[in-house]
Amino acid sequence: MSFTRSFVYSRHKLLNIYSCNLSTSAIKYQNVQQSTAAVKRICIVGAGPAGFYAAQYLLKQLSDCTVDIVEKLPVPFGLVRFGVAPDHPEVKNVINTFTKTAEHPRLRFFGNVTLGEDVSLQELRDRYHAVLLTYGADQDRELQLDNERQAPHVISARKFVAWYNGLPGAEQLQPDLSGRDVTIVGQGNVAVDVARMLLSPIDTLKLTDTTEYALEALARSKVERVHLVGRRGPLQAAFTIKELREMLKLPNVETCWRAADFTGIAEQVDKLQRPRRRLTELMLKSLGEQRKPRAAANGKQFLPIFLRAPKAIAANEMEFSITELQENEAAVATEASERLPADLILRSIGYKSSCADAGINFDPKRGHVCNRQGRVLKPGESDAVEPGLYVAGWLCTGPTGVILTTMNGAFAVAKTICDDIANKAVDTASAKPGFEPGSRRIVNWEGWRRIDQHESEAGKAKGKPREKIVSTEQMLRIAGV
Ligand code: FAD
Repeated sequence: MSFTRSFVYSRHKLLNIYSCNLSTSAIKYQNVQQSTAAVKRICIVGAGPAGFYAAQYLLKQLSDCTVDIVEKLPVPFGLVRFGVAPDHPEVKNVINTFTKTAEHPRLRFFGNVTLGEDVSLQELRDRYHAVLLTYGADQDRELQLDNERQAPHVISARKFVAWYNGLPGAEQLQPDLSGRDVTIVGQGNVAVDVARMLLSPIDTLKLTDTTEYALEALARSKVERVHLVGRRGPLQAAFTIKELREMLKLPNVETCWRAADFTGIAEQVDKLQRPRRRLTELMLKSLGEQRKPRAAANGKQFLPIFLRAPKAIAANEMEFSITELQENEAAVATEASERLPADLILRSIGYKSSCADAGINFDPKRGHVCNRQGRVLKPGESDAVEPGLYVAGWLCTGPTGVILTTMNGAFAVAKTICDDIANKAVDTASAKPGFEPGSRRIVNWEGWRRIDQHESEAGKAKGKPREKIVSTEQMLRIAGV
């Protein structure tokens, strides 16, 4: 944590350093351009945690660099805004740090610019000394079951998360919450977030920034039981202790474990590493306290189910193979199977990055940009790197890890960029022009400020931290572009 703090700027300090009393970041930026002999221009694609943390590091370490962040949406913060659960406002506090970085006089924000559509990678590489790709993961992994794409009651957790979090376009999803049983395939923290959103009392959610249309749908929801199904056993559960504790504390929700899933688990607890041991102890404690599961008539139920692999999708049901764990902890399907009730099926087995521009050396199998410690590799077999092209965040590592993990990775790649500039592995001899918006409708930081203010005021009227705008067009109008 102290590592994080050492990079956090004080706005007051920045204004002293750059003696800028000017109101818009664009004007501040021009001043720096005039007073700096050889500006190193760096472009970051994606305004999520990886982009902002990398920018923070670069601005601190390279006093003669400017950083431009190019972002697809008119609004910043990536999955902090559109992924992190609305009832986890403390996680969203990182936005304060990102805002300080964004208001640095040598940073410009270009919202509503999509790499691969509005600007090509080649154009950015021509206009900057270094380009850092941090555009995250906006697709999801599929179960590879027959009618998965056609079945109307199968949706991805990614889309459901985007729906309650107000990602533009996601309001069209309209998940059918008229049935009693939801089956979530996957047991990571995203799956638990989704289960919590489905089972939380609506009055609690009304105090969060959950979008209004989602609140209305959740208020009408008939969902009573949420099954959380994983291929492997309790010792391999992918959710963490904090998320499980929250589920166990949910009012009027009973957590129902299957005792058979825990055969032989208690005997192994002493051999486990601390975080895994504590999680397992909590599951065993909760199992020990469990009363005979009752019908959900008086309340709702959360049902974690282990050792089941998805096999087939049917109307209002899902069939799972019963699995066995091998010595290497891999789950292998047996002949036996079980059907679970499933009025709605939510697939939550991971996000996936995509290739935003044909010029990117992208590995579709692994779902990430081919790289060596953040340096993007040239296509082909060789280990040669593309000079001045980097990748960080989920696009680099694959979609795993929390914001802290993403921060450490982004700092490391930003340091690599600094080292390469110092070692002249990146050519900074000739001047570069930077991004030219042309006639595009660009949202700069001032524009985002206007959207932010509008959302905060709209939220205040309803007792919420903010009421997110979900239409891109409305965002652009409020931003004044
Ligand atoms: P992102 O956050 O995805 O940012 C990528 C940015 O790039 C986005 O703003 C996107 O709009 C932009 N972009 C995409 N394509 C383009 C393009 N072509 N051109 C320009 N810009 C583009 N971590 C925690 O610590 N605590 C939590 O509670 C937590 N909850 C989570 C809940 C969910 C549902 C998910 C999915 C993740 C959660 N995480 C949490 C993890 C955390 O969100 C990630 O570690 C982090 O967001 C990854 O950052 P990133 O910058 O790599 O990607």
